[in-house]
Amino acid sequence: MSAYVHEVRVREVIAETADSVTLVLDVSDEVTPRFDYECGQFLTVRIPSPTTGSVARCYSLSSSPHDPHLAVTIKRTAGGYASNWLCDNVVPGSSLEVLEPSGTFVPASLDRDVLLCAAGSGITPIMSIAKTVLARGAGRVIVLYANQNRESTIFHRQLAELEQAYADRLVVVHWLVDERGLPTVDGLAAEIRTHTFDDVFLCGPAGFMSEAHIALSSIGVPAERIRREEYRSLESNPFESSTTATQPTPPRGDHPTVEVEINGENHTFAWPKNQPLLDVLLDNGIDAPYVCRESICGTCVCSVRKGKTRMLLSDALTDEDIDMGVTLACQTLPESDEVYIAFDQ
Ligand SMILES: Cc1cc2nc3c(=O)[nH]c(=O)nc-3n(C[C@H](O)[C@H](O)[C@H](O)COP(=O)(O)OP(=O)(O)OC[C@H]3O[C@@H](n4cnc5c(N)ncnc54)[C@H](O)[C@@H]3O)c2cc1C
Repeated sequence: MSAYVHEVRVREVIAETADSVTLVLDVSDEVTPRFDYECGQFLTVRIPSPTTGSVARCYSLSSSPHDPHLAVTIKRTAGGYASNWLCDNVVPGSSLEVLEPSGTFVPASLDRDVLLCAAGSGITPIMSIAKTVLARGAGRVIVLYANQNRESTIFHRQLAELEQAYADRLVVVHWLVDERGLPTVDGLAAEIRTHTFDDVFLCGPAGFMSEAHIALSSIGVPAERIRREEYRSLESNPFESSTTATQPTPPRGDHPTVEVEINGENHTFAWPKNQPLLDVLLDNGIDAPYVCRESICGTCVCSVRKGKTRMLLSDALTDEDIDMGVTLACQTLPESDEVYIAFDQ
């Protein structure tokens, strides 16, 4: 089993709405430091499956790092496997296998003013960011939150309580489809332009995110100030993959060479030009951190310290990250004969 997989115990199950639950988790003392997290990050949960052994799904932490316990909030997806399994089967005392927190949907500073836009279950990282900025930072927070109706609005009461507690720093705007129809570009732009903010965080279904993004562009918000967390089910399963060496690639004259610094050790391998770095590491039995292998989660971030590389996709990174040499191992290919990479992020 990978060193990044841990068992956590479900302490409490809270029904939030008719189709969503919060799982409050207990982490054992010896792995508590491995579960330090930043607001906006997620856990990856192993859900047993009779056909494939298991599936892996990401769930954003709805708790804030200053809360006493970690919590994730899951909304049933119609026809979906894992979300329904979790809502139907998990009870207080259940154990879950999870990967350590990861993700890059995290504010660079808690002192900047943020616009947080969510629809449906997209509220989970937004709630964590809002609570953390309010409790630990000085930034002002606007939450623009779309739902079908009041009853299906996750955290409606908690947001109202926060608004009372931080009346001078938090504004919550609910967009209820039953009252206003589906959010439109013009409608969202009209709401957003009445507020001032530094950075924007968007989370929700693809349709909502693209409307919100167009609305933001239409009123002149630069793309580099907008962060997005896209909810989708993982196609790969980091719980079932093995890190046992399958195709060792010793250094060879006709391949570039990569020296990798990871977990306090250095390793040198041949790096075939069309093989992403993560594959090279896993093939050589290195327990590198990863979740999605699709560039969305940012778990395999590392730094190019020497040499030249390129990325196939870079969804989880900002232009600023890339300028600083940060790269995603699952997407990185060599461009020079010698490369030095450090897992130091
Ligand atoms: C970083 C991140 C954070 C996330 N955070 C949260 C969160 O906080 N809360 C939350 O609720 N979700 C969150 N998600 C989404 C979550 O990971 C799952 O994608 C979601 O729970 C649906 O998973 P599922 O197994 O229930 O659905 P799936 O079984 O993956 O199904 C998804 C959809 O595909 C359809 N489908 C399934 N199988 C087939 C098939 N064979 N043919 C055709 N259609 C099919 C289903 O009907 C359903 O509509 C997050 C995702 C990411 C990437």
